[in-house]
Amino acid sequence: MISRSSYDSLIEELHGSGATLVAVSKTKPEEDILTVYNWGQRVFGENRVMELVAKHKSLPKDIEWHMIGHLQRNKVSLIAPFVTMIHAGDSERLLKEINKQAAKNGRTQDTLLQIKIAKEESKYGWDMPELQEFLLSEAFANMKNIRLRGVMGMATFTEDTNLIHTEFDLLKRYYDDIKTSIDDTYFDTISMGMTGDYPIALEHGSNMVRIGSKIFGNR
Ligand SMILES: *Cc1c(COP(=O)(O)O)cnc(C)c1O
Repeated sequence: MISRSSYDSLIEELHGSGATLVAVSKTKPEEDILTVYNWGQRVFGENRVMELVAKHKSLPKDIEWHMIGHLQRNKVSLIAPFVTMIHAGDSERLLKEINKQAAKNGRTQDTLLQIKIAKEESKYGWDMPELQEFLLSEAFANMKNIRLRGVMGMATFTEDTNLIHTEFDLLKRYYDDIKTSIDDTYFDTISMGMTGDYPIALEHGSNMVRIGSKIFGNR
């Protein structure tokens, strides 16, 4: 169930840390999004392209839409005209397509690099050595319509809080390394933390949390 009191306590909790809240509205009806919008929330996250496109079309135009899920190259063109942030920039081929579609729309696309930090085998995200190499490449230098804003990562889904601490600490260190090597003032975002683990993420320097269930109820 959608909960004003959890939303309010979340906002208060995040206030101290200054972290941006991405309200993850995937699978939730537009009326629930409007309710949270009317509480003042403007940043929403979705993980499916078709759902994001439909919601963007019918909901208020001052919503900032974040694409937080894995993005297929053949669907980038559908969100390129309006999406505020792409969280899962996880391969060179995808970034190339994002760059191309951003250029077509006369936009500079804010994008995060999704990095693998979880112990569990996950299909998506950069390994650090290949990412470091990519960031030094000419291919990357030519992506003029992408503005790298930071990193995104997901911890292992586990009760083992020590492991979550370790993984978020790792992402923060990766962020620091990349920031030093690319020396770009726009690179300022660490997207980490969901309903189950955001307090740990905040301890490790997260400044953008992606929270769904705590606001909208279980899916
Ligand atoms: C669904 C989702 C979230 C939010 O999950 P909750 O546990 O509901 O807060 C965050 N990030 C990504 C990438 C997701 O797909």
